Amino acid sequence: MTAIEGVLDSGQYILGPNVSAFEDEFAQYLGIDHAIGLNSGTDALHLALRALNVGPGDEVITSTFSFIATAEAISILGARPVFVDIDPRTYAINTKALEAAITARTRAIIPVHLYGAPAPMHEIMRIANAHHLAVVEDCAQSVGASIEGRMTGTFGTISAFSFFPSKNLGACGDGGMIVTDRADLAQRVRSLRAHGGRKKYFHEEVGINSRLDEIQAAVLRVKLRYLEEWTACRRGVAAVYNEGFRGLDGIQLPTDEPRTRHVYHQYTIRAAHRDALQQRLADAGIGTAVYYPQPLHLQPAYEALGGKPGDHPHAEAAASSVLSLPISPDLDPADQDRVIGAVRDFTLTLNAA
Ligand SMILES: *Cc1c(COP(=O)(O)O)cnc(C)c1O
Repeated sequence: MTAIEGVLDSGQYILGPNVSAFEDEFAQYLGIDHAIGLNSGTDALHLALRALNVGPGDEVITSTFSFIATAEAISILGARPVFVDIDPRTYAINTKALEAAITARTRAIIPVHLYGAPAPMHEIMRIANAHHLAVVEDCAQSVGASIEGRMTGTFGTISAFSFFPSKNLGACGDGGMIVTDRADLAQRVRSLRAHGGRKKYFHEEVGINSRLDEIQAAVLRVKLRYLEEWTACRRGVAAVYNEGFRGLDGIQLPTDEPRTRHVYHQYTIRAAHRDALQQRLADAGIGTAVYYPQPLHLQPAYEALGGKPGDHPHAEAAASSVLSLPISPDLDPADQDRVIGAVRDFTLTLNAA
């Protein structure tokens, strides 16, 4: 509250001291040179590709099992999204399918750290480097996630974060960030976010208006100080779920790969009778969600690309079986016990039948 009042008193609402301080603090938190505050995670993906000069005739490979914003960023530039399947255990882009999808037109790869689980960045970077491709990490769900202590967002050429309120680091409205170690790309994004110019009323290229505002930056600066603590709490909640579901046949638990830190933006299980389980939980007053019920290659918005059922079987199977259970840093242990009990009851009754 005092942080917000400070902004209101200052009268400086756009690209002021809180935005630049937050950019510095966020870059430092990740261990990267440049951070540029933007209006949303969607804009961050879009401007990252724009800074890489992705455009008509280009192909960008991404996972078919993501939020549509990942693909929209490609389409809005006139480039073609090439959807590939996932690894059924981690939900990350399937690196074999990724390598097979590379053509002479491929310009970039967008791995998504879905649910807060780091995608296999070492392998993805190996493939990208071998084929001279740029990598844009979609870190909208993975702030704070790491591989061998190195943060997601610091492996690729340029990376996109979202501060949508429900994300692990959420603003009180929309917000996003691009991070990169490349000074040239950072400078280009700074220009693109402010109508394509570095000096007011002088424009080197056609840009957009995509700025993080001071009030959001002030809120995010305060929340960033608690992020590590909140992440530890989320991991603790996930560990309690894992223990509660141990040995339960018919439920697949999320995987926490060795030497990686999953930040559990979602705690997502898989269940054969997912819809019935979700209904049972809803009847017990337990809210759950399905991220995502339809892979991108089957969305009507992408019908023109010719995707058909059966193209990406792991993603399609995930879409019909994933269920995200309640998780937050301050989830009440008694509420969590009720969730575990309800999932166990449903599954044991089903297994007995
Ligand atoms: C939330 C999200 C986005 C978009 O972020 P916004 O800030 O809502 O625009 C992009 N990709 C993924 C995977 C997301 O979860």
